[in-house]
Amino acid sequence: MQVFFTPGPAQLYPTFESHVQQAIREQIGSISHRSKQFRGIYQFAVEQLRELLNIPADRAILFSGSATEIWERIIQNCAEKETTHFVNGSFSKRFYEFSVELGKKAQKFEAPFGQGFDITRHTVSDSSELICLTHNETSSGVSMPLADIHYFKKTYPGKIVAVDVVSSAPYPDLDWSLVDTAFFSVQKAFGLPAGLGVWIVNETCLQKAEQMKQQGQYIGTHHSLPSLWKNYLNYETPATPNVFGMYLLGKVVKDMNAIGVRKIRQETEEKATLLYQFLEQSEKFRPAVENPAHRSQTVIVAEVENPAEKIASLKEKGLVIGSGYGAYKDKQVRIANFPATSFENIQKLIKELE
Ligand SMILES: *Cc1c(COP(=O)(O)O)cnc(C)c1O
Repeated sequence: MQVFFTPGPAQLYPTFESHVQQAIREQIGSISHRSKQFRGIYQFAVEQLRELLNIPADRAILFSGSATEIWERIIQNCAEKETTHFVNGSFSKRFYEFSVELGKKAQKFEAPFGQGFDITRHTVSDSSELICLTHNETSSGVSMPLADIHYFKKTYPGKIVAVDVVSSAPYPDLDWSLVDTAFFSVQKAFGLPAGLGVWIVNETCLQKAEQMKQQGQYIGTHHSLPSLWKNYLNYETPATPNVFGMYLLGKVVKDMNAIGVRKIRQETEEKATLLYQFLEQSEKFRPAVENPAHRSQTVIVAEVENPAEKIASLKEKGLVIGSGYGAYKDKQVRIANFPATSFENIQKLIKELE
């Protein structure tokens, strides 16, 4: 069996297999999505997520096919004309490009690859309605500090703040009074197979979408925020959803709650510290993100000569690490540090990297 340190799809959560077996026994793949049994699955996932991420009761928790879909839904439903984006890697850039493609005026602040922002140096346009932030840039290993994420709502209270926590949740302890909407997909730090996005959203976003709809603006057909929200009130979905994925998510989040989110976050930091200490001491590797305040705790990116060779020799030992993103394939490797990755496996990886 190989151990995956890839930043998504990633190592599966240790209890995944037993939950799959239980799902088969319960014939989850055949039940109606308009049944009481399905509503129970949706409700259970919501309750477990609320506990894990401390999500207030007035937030809707909605399901989509992917996080990429949620980028589109947020831009379509939360901004009539203008959005603002902090871009420091490929994922935040795609979020920005979606806004352009959807015909919005998109303001962009861009940091060089591998660097974060000095946010106080950038002024969000008065007419911008939506500020889009990426907590963890999976491509570069740069993370935006929580204090920076929380700065925007304090500074621009009238604008909607959206945060991509796709490759970091459940690690960041978001202050929900300062975040209107956040989202992730399950194949990163939740250790599940891909195909399910989770969208946490408040009433400010819903009101904006309803207002735009009333004005005759197009806010989506397959999924719009008002249709998702209306169905959610009944623990249902507009289309037949990924019932299996929702079932598994509820179960895995319950297992995480049994450990406790505080412990999961603490262990994430301890494992990240081991990896960064190794990278700093190593002669061959070095951390790709120079500023320690901007280093991701969940996706650790390292510079190394001849990364393809390193990746191949680790693979022979059953350890699968990620390549650098896009053009950085030739100089970087990426190592995921998600809850499914044990201390033992991190130590084993460090030993082999040496
Ligand atoms: C993987 C990723 C996405 C896209 O997620 P999908 O589930 O593949 O749509 C978006 N943002 C970040 C930061 C990611 O790492």
